[in-house]
Amino acid sequence: MSDFRFAPIENPDTEALWAGLRDGRLLIQKCSACNAHRHPPSPICHRCNEGEHEWVEASGRGTVWSHSVVHEPLDGWPSEVPYTVVIVTLEEGVKIVSNLVEGSHEAVRIGAPVELAVTQGAAGVALPRFRLADAG
Ligand SMILES: [Zn+2]
Repeated sequence: MSDFRFAPIENPDTEALWAGLRDGRLLIQKCSACNAHRHPPSPICHRCNEGEHEWVEASGRGTVWSHSVVHEPLDGWPSEVPYTVVIVTLEEGVKIVSNLVEGSHEAVRIGAPVELAVTQGAAGVALPRFRLADAG
């Protein structure tokens, strides 16, 4: 929509993630040794401790694992409340913390299907957000 309050910090472990999002794709790491998916990006696999990995495109589909509606804005920031923070379990089995961009706050439920809705912002920043799958 517009500018984001906090720009992500890109580093060698995360630059593929952010570059993929600028192209509208959510990339996650897949361990070359044990094939486990992982997110957020990390230098080693949490399952087998190996470092070799490839980047694969996530389907963008998942379900709500948890959610919370924020009604109180952060100090010093103009209000965009209420907004919904969600933890999504992607089809690939990893969890991602995000926001809903569409769908009413009242409609979100644990287990609700969601789909990726990449939000492009200023200065080449893009964030992985989600919408309720039934909303679109
Ligand atoms: Zn592994």
